[in-house]
Amino acid sequence: MQYKSTRSSATLTASQAIIKGLADDGGLFLPVSVPKLAIPLEKLPALSYCETAYLVMKDFLDDFTEEELKDCIGKAYDEKFDTKEIAPVHQANDQYFLELYHGATIAFKDMALSLLPHLLTCAMKKNHVDKEVVILTATSGDTGKAALAGFGGVKGTRIIVFYPKGGVSHIQELQMVTTKESNTKVIAVKGNFDDCQSGVKKIFNDEAFKKELDEKGFCFSSANSINIGRLIPQIVYYVYAYGRMVGNGAIKAGEELNFTVPTGNFGNILAGFLAKKMGLPVGKLICASNENNVLFDFFKTGVYDRNRNFVLTTSPSMDILISSNLERLIYLSCGEDDVKNRELMESLAKTGKYEITEEMKAYLRDFYGVWATEEQVKETIRSVYDACGYVIDPHTAVAAFADKKWKEESGTVAKSVVLSTASPYKFSESVLKAIDKESIPADDFAMADRLCELWGEKIPNAVEGIRNAEILHKDVCEIAAMKDAVAGYLQ
Ligand SMILES: *Cc1c(COP(=O)(O)O)cnc(C)c1O
Repeated sequence: MQYKSTRSSATLTASQAIIKGLADDGGLFLPVSVPKLAIPLEKLPALSYCETAYLVMKDFLDDFTEEELKDCIGKAYDEKFDTKEIAPVHQANDQYFLELYHGATIAFKDMALSLLPHLLTCAMKKNHVDKEVVILTATSGDTGKAALAGFGGVKGTRIIVFYPKGGVSHIQELQMVTTKESNTKVIAVKGNFDDCQSGVKKIFNDEAFKKELDEKGFCFSSANSINIGRLIPQIVYYVYAYGRMVGNGAIKAGEELNFTVPTGNFGNILAGFLAKKMGLPVGKLICASNENNVLFDFFKTGVYDRNRNFVLTTSPSMDILISSNLERLIYLSCGEDDVKNRELMESLAKTGKYEITEEMKAYLRDFYGVWATEEQVKETIRSVYDACGYVIDPHTAVAAFADKKWKEESGTVAKSVVLSTASPYKFSESVLKAIDKESIPADDFAMADRLCELWGEKIPNAVEGIRNAEILHKDVCEIAAMKDAVAGYLQ
C-alpha cells in the first residue's frame, strides 16, 4: 500500500508516512486505494476489539508484519482501558451511544493514541531511523493528554504539547500539566487552538530549523490527526460498532447504519467515511458541530469560510475553525487532483475561504451537517438524563442533538449510532449545570463527587489520579515564540 500526499504526487509506504506525519509539501497522506473489509459482516459480532483492529488495519499497514501489527495492537488495547469491550455500545432510550472514552485519558483520542506510539517506534526500527523522534502536538484539550499518556516514557521519543491558555477545561489542563514522564513538555500558548495548530504546522514546514535539529539527532513527527497513524486506527471502531449492533439485534448484517459524529478537526468522521469505502454498510455520516458551525455552512453551501468569530463553548475539543482533515475529503472529492486541492488550500491560507464545484459537492452526499446551540446542548444532556439516568458529556450531547434533528429532518427509520467522545467526568461542571437541581460545588473534584452521586458510575482514574498531583509544567509562551520554546527544550 502506498500513501500519497494531497498536495503532490510523492508516495511513501505506511510506516514512512507514519514517521513523517505531514508531507513535505504541507499536504496530508492518504492511501492510494482503500482495501475491502477482510471479513464477512455476519462474522463481526464474534470478534474482539483487537481481532477487529487487526483485520481492519492489516491491508492499510501492509509493510508491518502480522506479528508486529498484532504486537502493537495488543500493547495498545489492554488494561489501560477500564472495560474489556474497549468500546461498548450503550442503548439509552431510542439512541445508541458508542462509548469511546474508556481509555487512559477518558476521551476518544485514546483510541488512536494508545496505538500510535507503538506503530511509530516499530516504523522507526523498520526504516532504520536512529534519531530521537520529537512529537509536536497542538491540542484543543483532549489530544494533548492522550498523546502524553501514549508517548510518556516511550524510549526514543520526546513529546511537546501546546495548548491554548484559557481554552481548555480546568480538568483537561490539570491532566496535562501534572504529567510526570521526563520525555514530556507541556506549554500554554497565548492564543486559541487554531493559533497552536498553525504554529505547529509552521515549525513542521521550517526546513532550516528541521535541518538544524537533524544535526542534533532529532526528527519531528506529529500525533495530531493529520498523521495517518491516527486516522487508520479510528476506522476500527466503526466496524466494531457495526458488529455490536448486529450482535445486539438492533440491525441485521448488511443493513445500513448511520453514524453521528461530534466533529472538530474532522478526523473521527473521516475515519467513518473510510470505513464506508471499505464496504461497511454506512448510510449517512452526520457531522455534528457546536456554535463554531463552519462545517455546517460548508456542507450546506459548498463554501468553506473561516472568517467568523471564534466561539468558546462547553465542547472545547470542537472549538475549531480550520478542520485539518477536511483537506483529505476535499482531495478525494476533486477526483484525487493534488493540483486542484493545493489551489483550494492556498486560497484558505490566504483569504480564509474557498468554494468547491457542484461536482465536488455531489461527492459529499454521504455527509449531513447539523449544529447545536449551547442551550440545545444543555437541554440534550438534561433530557437524556431525565429519560433514563444516562449521563453524556457536552461533545456527545452536540451529536445526540444532531442525531435527533437528522432523524426528524430526514424522516428516516434507519438506526444510527452516536459517537460518544468524552467521559462526562472530564466536563463535570457543564454536565452538572444541565442536570443538577441543587447548587454546584466550586471545586472540580467536588463536582466529580457530586456527579458520581447522581450517576452512580465510578470516577475514573484519569480524574482520581490528578486530585492531589503536583503541577510540573508551568511554561506560557506567545504564539510567535513557539519555535523558540521547542528549540529551548531540545537544547
Ligand atoms: C477531538 C475531539 C472531538 C473532535 O474530533 P475530530 O476528530 O477532531 O473531529 C470531539 N469530541 C471530543 C471529546 C474530542 O476530544
